[in-house]
This record gives sequence, structure tokens and C-alpha cells, in this order.
Amino acid sequence: MKTNAEVIIIGGGIIGCATAYYLAKRGAEVIVLECSDNIGNGGSSRNGGGVRQSGRDVRELPLVMYGIKHLWPGLSEELGVDCEYRQEGNLRLGKNEKHAQILQKLADNARKAGLDVRMIDGDEVRSINPYLSDEVTVASWCPTDGHANPLTTTLGYYKAARNLGVSFITGERVTALRTVGGRIRQVITEDTVYEGESVLVAAGLDSRPILDSVGIDIPMTKSLLECLVTEAEPQMFGQMLGTADADFYGHQTKHGSFVFGGSSGLERYNKDNGTPVTSSKTAPCICRGIIKYFPDLAKAKIVRTWAGFMDASSDGVPSIGKVDEIPGLYVACAFHGHGFGIAPGAAHQLAQLITTGSTDVDLQDLRYDRYKAVN
Ligand SMILES: Cc1cc2nc3c(=O)[nH]c(=O)nc-3n(C[C@H](O)[C@H](O)[C@H](O)COP(=O)(O)OP(=O)(O)OC[C@H]3O[C@@H](n4cnc5c(N)ncnc54)[C@H](O)[C@@H]3O)c2cc1C
Repeated sequence: MKTNAEVIIIGGGIIGCATAYYLAKRGAEVIVLECSDNIGNGGSSRNGGGVRQSGRDVRELPLVMYGIKHLWPGLSEELGVDCEYRQEGNLRLGKNEKHAQILQKLADNARKAGLDVRMIDGDEVRSINPYLSDEVTVASWCPTDGHANPLTTTLGYYKAARNLGVSFITGERVTALRTVGGRIRQVITEDTVYEGESVLVAAGLDSRPILDSVGIDIPMTKSLLECLVTEAEPQMFGQMLGTADADFYGHQTKHGSFVFGGSSGLERYNKDNGTPVTSSKTAPCICRGIIKYFPDLAKAKIVRTWAGFMDASSDGVPSIGKVDEIPGLYVACAFHGHGFGIAPGAAHQLAQLITTGSTDVDLQDLRYDRYKAVN
């Protein structure tokens, strides 16, 4: 078994798989170590498929806008799988004055950062999506947002990376990192020591204990998110939907099912045996919320629910880039609940950073050491 490579990536989620792919395209020799038996078994195959720029912290915007302009539109063709990418806009919905204020602030900040997003009234909302109820009085509208299929996209990157010679080793849990002569060098698993000139830690929430082994701490914590999927319905609309209160989000998939994520407020009280499981209360809670916005779905049948953990950072924004104290070490974690849409842009820029030392998009605002004490 190969234990040496130019770059060792820890984590076989979309960030690890996509970075491996873009590195291999640049000619780098890469090993990806994944602790579970399956690629994409973390958030990457469990998410709601939103590929949006609107509603994000402005620090993330340059990276996600880069991906949506340069990478997402040609991704299915490039990877040779149907990522089911649909770029028909995002409606972020509101029903009252408080919602309008939240949406206005997000839209103003995003416009200053160069995003085409604007506020629209209820009539214009229904001219874009006639299925939305009269309760919706306001929304932000970003026409270049969209959605995609997280499973096919993550596996697409995995297969394309393998075709370029990347080695994926599953069932291999990384326990620690080790430096040699002040540089990162070794990646330790239960049975093996891997060696690389560069190491990227992209292990979601578990990035924290792995980085801790070389004295780097990124403040993040575990938070449960839940999703549901309906039976296939006739095609109704192509936009991604969200709300000012973030109580639900979702879209209709290519084969007709609706995928919705949402919050019941009960996540903290779920039975937690260490695996992400849904509560029996969640789907009814989410559905009651959705029906107020979207009455035509009142009779839709839910066929499956699932949950996943997000790696929530203390300020809601990921850590992406090189670790100055330890040459050769890179991080990409704490993507919060929105790491799928930004993944191609983040991975593309990481591959450029690791191979050339520079990036087209400035990653300064996403540095791992930006965190300040809150008190
Ligand atoms: C229910 C839900 C809905 C979401 N909806 C959206 C959405 O609509 N749009 C959006 O943009 N984002 C969404 N997200 C967030 C998105 O899924 C994540 O931000 C993204 O998948 C993060 O990818 P990742 O590769 O960093 O992490 P992960 O997919 O978690 O991958 C990390 C990998 O590292 C592996 N690993 C962990 N520890 C070790 C170790 N010690 N050794 C080796 N391997 C290890 C894990 O097994 C895992 O496979 C959602 C998340 C959830 C849970």
C-alpha cells in the first residue's frame, strides 16, 4: 500500500474529494484518507443541495461567486456525471417587517460585495414562483443561485480524482499529525504512518482534534441538521427556496421529489448515540412550516428523513488556507451549514494554493487564526 505522496488529504467529503481532483489535474500525487467505509458519508451526502451566494456572510462571497461563475456551470461535463446543477435563482422569503429587515441587510451587504441580489415584493415573488402563498410579502431574489445533487457531485469528484491517479484509502482513521524539522511531514493512523510534503486537513468536525495534535485550535462545535424528501411530484419550479428565519430551505429535484431541510427546534434534544438521527417530531414540524409558504404541498407524502452534523464555527464562516506556524499544513473545515455550494470554489483555490503558493481569490478573511475571544 502506498504511504507517501506529495499531498495527503484527511477526509473524503466533498472538500477532500474535490481538492484531490483539482490537485491531480495540476499533476500532484495525492492520497486521501477517509475514516469511514464510504466516501461522502459526512455532511457531503446528507445536505440539502443548495448552491447559493445570497444569504451568506460577505467573507464567503468571493469564493462562492468564483465557483458559480467558473466551475458549477460546466461541472457535470467536466466530471462525467450528472450533478443535476440547476441555476434558476434563489428566493429567500419573508412574511413580515422583521423578515424584511433581515433580508434587506443581507441583500445590501451582498450587493456591496458585487452580487446581483435585490428585494422584491409579494406580487413579484409569485410572478417568479406562482405556488407561493399570499402570506409571503417580501423576498430577496438572486437569479444566479441554484441547487445540485450532493451525492452525484461528491461521487463525481471522487471518481474523476481516481481516474487521475489519486489513491483513496477508506476505513483509515487519522489520529494525529507530526512535524519533522518544523515542517508538517507525518499523518498517523491507527496502524500506519503516512508521509507527505503537504497535508490538508478536511475532516469536518474531527479536524479539530487532528489539528490539536500540532497545537492548532479552530473553535467549532457539532450541530445537527435534518432533511426530508417527498414522493415525486409533477415538475413545479426550479428555484432554490429559503426563508429569512432560516426555518426551512429546499428545492424540487430533477425526478420530481422535493428535498427540504428545516429546523424543528428539537435538534438539541434528539437521542444522540453519536450518530446523526432524525427525531420523530422533526418532519411534522418542518412540514407545518413549509405548508404556510407552499400550500400546494399539503398532501405530498414524505418518504424519508435523515440528519447530518454540521461543523459549526464560532463566527459562522469556514477556515480555509495555509497554517503559517507549520509550513506545508493546510486547513479546510468549519463549513457550517453551507459548505456544499462553496466546495468547488474552495477546493479549486486550495489546489492552486498548495501547488503554487498563491490564489486567484483572496482567502485572508477565512484565515484559521482570525478568531477573537467574544468577551
Ligand atoms: C442536513 C444538512 C443539510 C445541509 N444543507 C446544505 C445546503 O443546502 N447547501 C450547502 O452549501 N451546504 C449544506 N450543508 C453543509 C454541507 O453539507 C457541508 O458544509 C459540506 O458537506 C462539508 O464538506 P466537508 O468535506 O468539509 O465535510 P464532510 O462531508 O463531513 O467530510 C469530512 C470527512 O472526513 C472524514 N473524517 C472525519 N474524521 C476523520 C479522521 N480522523 N480520519 C479520516 N477521515 C476523517 C469523515 O468521515 C467525512 O467523510 C448541509 C449539511 C447538513 C448536515
